[in-house]
Amino acid sequence: MIGITVLGSTGSIGVSTLDVIAQHPEQYRAVALTANRNVDRLFEQCISHHPEYAVMTDVAAAEQLQQKIQTAGMDIEVFAGVEGLEKVAALPQCDQVMAAIVGAAGLLPTLAAARAGKRVLLANKEALVMSGQLFMDAVREHGAELLPIDSEHNAIFQCMPERFNGLENGGVEQILLTGSGGPFRAVDPAELVNVTPDQACAHPNWVMGRKISVDSATMMNKGLELIEACWLFAAPPEKIQIVVHPQSIIHSMVEYVDGSVLAQMGSPDMRIPIAHSMAWPKRTSSGVKRLNLFDVARLDFERPDDARFPCLRLARAVAEQGGTAAAILNAANEIAVEAFLGEALGFMDISRVIEATLSDVSAQAASSLDIVLQADAAAREVAQQHIDRLTAK
Ligand code: NDP
Repeated sequence: MIGITVLGSTGSIGVSTLDVIAQHPEQYRAVALTANRNVDRLFEQCISHHPEYAVMTDVAAAEQLQQKIQTAGMDIEVFAGVEGLEKVAALPQCDQVMAAIVGAAGLLPTLAAARAGKRVLLANKEALVMSGQLFMDAVREHGAELLPIDSEHNAIFQCMPERFNGLENGGVEQILLTGSGGPFRAVDPAELVNVTPDQACAHPNWVMGRKISVDSATMMNKGLELIEACWLFAAPPEKIQIVVHPQSIIHSMVEYVDGSVLAQMGSPDMRIPIAHSMAWPKRTSSGVKRLNLFDVARLDFERPDDARFPCLRLARAVAEQGGTAAAILNAANEIAVEAFLGEALGFMDISRVIEATLSDVSAQAASSLDIVLQADAAAREVAQQHIDRLTAK
């Protein structure tokens, strides 16, 4: 029986992970479930999945959950705070850790899983974007396995040579990272000034949490994925071409030096990469509806529009720059997206805040976790100042 800790179990990826686990009760079990504040959903998940541990980052929420669990007479230990997350990411009875907390909050527990030598199922791209080399070193030094959950990176992983040992050794010419272009791919740029959070979160193909949905609308999601792919596949940014593919059927491709292009396709449902990574190198069913190519009928491809989506240009520049630049970009993006979702900042101002923060906070070598966390904190403060200035007008 494979034990899984699901970090961020109440979110979109967390729920899909529990769905796959529940389809294979003889093979997988949830050892620990975690959330930030959503007591009711975590309690419901405790009733249906019987974990040994439940963690709420928010201390007051953890107390409420403890009360409910006690009243229900369930034998589940409740922890609070980041320490609780780190503890359940490293439990001896846990073989795999689904890293599905959103944003920088996932960095420390995901790193704890890598340091404990677990199979890390990485959905929380922000953790890898921020810590890059430090994270990859932790995986290697502690014998952890890193399997990408992002559908694009999971597709690339599936299209890479079986024993991947660098792009050149594998005869890889370039990676073709696909993206739908989000809800505003074809909208007149003049209209983007007034879009609302709900419009930005209405993704044409995927149902996701609100932060990643806004990232998809600005295409910062593709930018973060570019940086993520550089680390996962030891690829320089110039070897990664972003390809807009509105149908989200091809999840990414790998082009080889002989001209072969391998693609991974499937219905846009995150249970496919989740089931793939849980079972790898075997395969298991995911519960996803079979892809019907006759219904799909056509696949379209377009060049990305950097003028419409400035976040793409910013992310590529950061990928080339290296060091703490990616942590600064990520932090500024998180603060700007939060302000946009709270209706305190306009959609088009998101990239302005990020660009201004990148020019105000100097990047340096990301030689320790402390330096990365300092860059993250400094960028958050500066991004907030830019938001205050923009919204004071
Ligand atoms: P959601 O917003 O749906 O869920 C986020 C989860 O993280 C929730 O369980 C939430 O708990 C928890 N959380 C939020 N803040 C904190 C915190 N400060 N400390 C601890 N836990 C916290 O996000 P998604 O599931 O959409 O995304 C999760 C990650 O996966 C992101 O990094 C995203 O980029 C990535 N991803 C998502 C995809 C998708 O299809 N959704 C696709 C590919 C990657 P609570 O419910 O209590 O708030």
